[in-house]
Amino acid sequence: MKPILDELRAALGEAQVLSADVAAQRPSSFWDTSPLRARALLRPRSTAEVSTALRICHARGQTVVTHGGLTGCVEGATSTADSVVLSLERMNAIEEIDGIGRTATVQAGVILQKLQEAARERGLLFPVDLGARGSCTVGGNVATNAGGINVIRYGMMRQRVLGLEAVLADGTVISSMNHMLKNNAGYDLKQLFIGTEGTLGVVTRVVVKLEEAPTSRNSAMVALASFGQVTALLKRLQQQLGGQLSAYEVMWGDYFREVTQPGWQRAPLGREHAFYVMLEAEGANPDADAAQFTAVMEQALAEELVVDAVIPKSDTELRALWEIRENFQALYQRKPIFLYDVSLQIRDMEAYVAQVQQRLKARWPASRCDVIGHIGDGNLHFFVHPGCAGEHQHEQSDADVYAPLQAIGGSISAEHGIGTEKRRHLSVSRSGEEIALMQVLKRTLDPQGILNAGKVI
Ligand SMILES: Cc1cc2nc3c(=O)[nH]c(=O)nc-3n(C[C@H](O)[C@H](O)[C@H](O)COP(=O)(O)OP(=O)(O)OC[C@H]3O[C@@H](n4cnc5c(N)ncnc54)[C@H](O)[C@@H]3O)c2cc1C
Repeated sequence: MKPILDELRAALGEAQVLSADVAAQRPSSFWDTSPLRARALLRPRSTAEVSTALRICHARGQTVVTHGGLTGCVEGATSTADSVVLSLERMNAIEEIDGIGRTATVQAGVILQKLQEAARERGLLFPVDLGARGSCTVGGNVATNAGGINVIRYGMMRQRVLGLEAVLADGTVISSMNHMLKNNAGYDLKQLFIGTEGTLGVVTRVVVKLEEAPTSRNSAMVALASFGQVTALLKRLQQQLGGQLSAYEVMWGDYFREVTQPGWQRAPLGREHAFYVMLEAEGANPDADAAQFTAVMEQALAEELVVDAVIPKSDTELRALWEIRENFQALYQRKPIFLYDVSLQIRDMEAYVAQVQQRLKARWPASRCDVIGHIGDGNLHFFVHPGCAGEHQHEQSDADVYAPLQAIGGSISAEHGIGTEKRRHLSVSRSGEEIALMQVLKRTLDPQGILNAGKVI
C-alpha cells in the first residue's frame, strides 16, 4: 500500500498537500503562536476534494483536524504531529447573494467580514458579528454556533443557517442546501453540524439568512453605578426602543480600567465607575430613531439611571468605543490568562460573579478576574489571572468558576464550545444520558473516530 501522503498527493494534486515542515511555518492558532504540528496540511478546493481526502483518511484510520480561521477559544482546532489538518482556506467563494429571498450561499472558508461586506454592498445585513470577524470563517462560525455582539436582536449562528453541505468522515456528501424559511420534511439534519465543532462532519458550503441593512444606527457608551442599574437600563431600552436594541455589552469597572490604562485605549468616560455598557440600536428611520434614542438616553441621565454617557459623533469615534470592548490585548500582558464563557440567568449574575471573585481571591490573593458580558444573552466572559506562579492553576481556576454554576443551572459554554479545553467539565452542564446520546451520534457518523478526535466528548 502507498504511504498515505502519496495517495493524498496523487488524488488531490501536489499543491493541495503541504508537508509537515511547510505546515510548521504557520502558527498553531490566534492564541498559540507555536509552530503548527501536523503530518500534512490539506487545502482542498472543492467539496469533491474534501470528500476524496476524507475517504482516503477514513480507509486508513487517519485522524483529521478541520481548520477554519483558527480563532476558536477552546483548543478545538489543536492538532498533533500525527494528525492531518484539513484547511478550508481555499474554499472561500461567495457563490450567490439573493436580494429578494435575502439569503447568501457561501463556501465554508469565507471570512466572516467578507460576507458582511458583500451583504452590505447589496443593501443587506449579515448580523452575526464578533471581534474575530476579520479572521474567523463562516464554516468555523457554524461549527462553533458562534454568538457575538448582536445575538440580543438577531440570534446566534444557528438562527442564521438555512441550509448547509457537509462531508461525513467516510467521504459521504450530505447536501442539505435549503434556502427556505420553512421546511419540516423529516429531521433537520443541518443541526447535526451546527455547534458540534467539526466532530460529526466537515462543513463545506452554507446558506445563511440575511436581513435588510438598517439605515439608522445610534450608539452610546454609558457608565452605571450598580448591576441593578445595568439590568434596569436593559429593560428600559427593550421597552422604549421598539425592538431596535442590537447590542448591549457590559464591562465591569476593573476591565474598563485595565484596557484604558495609559498606552492602550483612551477612556471616553471617567474611569471610576462600577459598570460600563456599550449599546447600539438599529432601525430604518434615521431622524425619528435618533430623536427617540436621544430622548431615552436623556431620560436615563435625568433619572440617574446612568451616571454618565458618551455618544460618538463619527465612525472613528464609534470604532474607538468598540475597541474598548473588543480589544482586550492589555489584559494579556499578564500571563497566564484563563478565558471563560459561561451562560446563566441574568438574575443570578451579580451574586455569581461575586462568588467566583471571592473564591479566586481566597485561593490567590493577588489574582485578577476581569469580567465582560453579552448580558442580554445571559453570557459572561471572565479573564482570570492567578497573579502568582504555581502548578495546575488552570484546573484550580476552572474549579472556582464552574463549581457555583451547577447549582444555578448555568452552562460552562455560552458560545465558544467545548473543544479539548473544557471536555473534562462537560458533565457540569450535560447529564450522563445527554453525553451518552452524543457518543452514539459520534460513533454512528464517525465510527473510526477520525474527525477532531478527542474534542467535545
Ligand atoms: C478577538 C476574538 C473575539 C471573539 N469573540 C467571539 C464572540 O463574541 N462570540 C463567539 O461566539 N466567539 C468569539 N470568538 C471565538 C471564535 O472567533 C469563534 O469561535 C469562531 O466561530 C471560530 O471560527 P474559526 O473559523 O476561527 O474556527 P476555528 O478556530 O478554525 O475552528 C473552531 C472549531 O470549529 C471547527 N471547524 C472550523 N471550520 C470547520 C468546518 N468548515 N467544518 C467543520 N468544523 C470546522 C474546528 O475544527 C474547531 O473545532 C472570538 C475570538 C477572538 C480571537
